[in-house]
Amino acid sequence: MKFIVFSFVCILSLPVLGDQWLAGDLHVHSVHSGGDSYVRELSLHAQKIGLNFYAVTDHDNKMKGAPLAWSEIREQDVDGVSVLYGMEWTSGDKWTNSIGHLNIWSDRPFLYEKFWKSNLLRDLHLLEEARREAGVLLSVNHPRAVGFSWELDYPQHFDAMEIWNGPFSLSRSNLAYRDWKERLQNDEHVLAVGGSDIHKIKRDSHTRMGHPTTWVRGKSHSSSHVMQALSEGRVVLTADPYILPPDLSLYDAHSEQLLGQIGDQLYTHGLFYLRLKLPKNAYSGVAFKELLLYRNGKLLKKLKVDEKRIFAVKDRVEQREKVSYFLELRGENKGALWGDSDILAITNPIYINF
Ligand SMILES: [Zn+2]
Ligand SMILES: [Zn+2]
Repeated sequence: MKFIVFSFVCILSLPVLGDQWLAGDLHVHSVHSGGDSYVRELSLHAQKIGLNFYAVTDHDNKMKGAPLAWSEIREQDVDGVSVLYGMEWTSGDKWTNSIGHLNIWSDRPFLYEKFWKSNLLRDLHLLEEARREAGVLLSVNHPRAVGFSWELDYPQHFDAMEIWNGPFSLSRSNLAYRDWKERLQNDEHVLAVGGSDIHKIKRDSHTRMGHPTTWVRGKSHSSSHVMQALSEGRVVLTADPYILPPDLSLYDAHSEQLLGQIGDQLYTHGLFYLRLKLPKNAYSGVAFKELLLYRNGKLLKKLKVDEKRIFAVKDRVEQREKVSYFLELRGENKGALWGDSDILAITNPIYINF
């Protein structure tokens, strides 16, 4: 009897049958750009800490535009871990002449020449052309980190914004999270991602792989499924790989039918309820304290976390009104790298009428 009840709960907790939350790190450096490890070592480390995927994003200027790690990515065969082909478009060689950094991700090797030329010429039109031709995803890295911030306008063709970066973490005056919320207030549709920006895994440093972790909901951990989930916005950020993603879903208030989940874009109006679900407490030393529900980048509801794991909040959306909802989880994390940050997780939004 116990077994039957257990299976029932499991099935209910699956977002979409066949989809699963996969843990990853979208910002990792290898020996080719100041790191201390080759791809195979990075993959073994990722496997050890429970990551399903990561992206090698070496500084292109350290390699004069040649993607030196990609042959290693092609050959890596560490069980259960897939590696995205990435590069960090890195302007300037000192922070004094930097206009910013961008991450580029793909599930396959692509021609980098044009990206490199766009970097040397600081030509964003050429960058956009290269992005379109290669079919890659482009993310603005640590956009508000002093010295390494993004200094130009945010062109619309950027696919994502790294609002949570390892060294420029949420607690160390990274204004990117606030910037992202302001964009949501202006009805912008921007994918929020995280990345550890790890360089050294062999000794203790101020960064750790998977801190933060970017979770994607996909069919499998294959690179193509990870890329698909990223482009569909099925993404949640947590402080580390041991905190599982909280869940947010939208239901019709009358029929109680499930209408949307994180990343979905819906065209609808009426009375809804949002279901907020806490993850299981992954390890001791983590305590959940508050769930914050945001509507268009502004706080809609703050809920104290007690014994309950599921909460419901009612809200109305008018006809053609653009509304985005996302969730933030706060609490205590004794294992946190950044002792003063109480943010444990941030989800991407559900978008309505965008
Ligand atoms: Zn960078
Ligand atoms: Zn980096």
